[in-house]
Amino acid sequence: MSASSTAAADAKLIDRLRGRGLRVTSQRLVIHRVLCAQPQHMTAEQVLASVSDMLPGTSLPTVYATLELLERLQLVRRVGTGNGAVLFDSRVTPHAHTACRRCGAVADLDMTTSPEPVLRRARDGGFVPDHAQVVVWGLCPDCARREISVAG
Ligand SMILES: [Zn+2]
Ligand SMILES: [Zn+2]
Repeated sequence: MSASSTAAADAKLIDRLRGRGLRVTSQRLVIHRVLCAQPQHMTAEQVLASVSDMLPGTSLPTVYATLELLERLQLVRRVGTGNGAVLFDSRVTPHAHTACRRCGAVADLDMTTSPEPVLRRARDGGFVPDHAQVVVWGLCPDCARREISVAG
């Protein structure tokens, strides 16, 4: 992550925190920076591992609490890929994901259709939706190649 994109990420977070009268802490800044860097989809455990040098003594519950706060501030989204791991994604504009059922790799897919009809159905039933997600399950290119070579 470049210095300028770090500054931009910080500015955005500071703006949202102050807008709600919340404190700007180094913990919040560092965790948000890690999420904005690569890899884009991270578990809370991976976030904790990435920040432990900069924020010694940070616990997993603290990381979760910060991720939930960032989610409320609409700076991250959780991605449920169905294989048990909840991933946090710093790309909050609508997009779909592919999830590999073998290695668990998750990648972005640009979405060409609007989720609005599905959201409307949910609202009709009294549900209050945050957003809709499309996950395409299957094998990533690497795992698909391996499967073919085993089969052959
Ligand atoms: Zn795979
Ligand atoms: Zn994503």
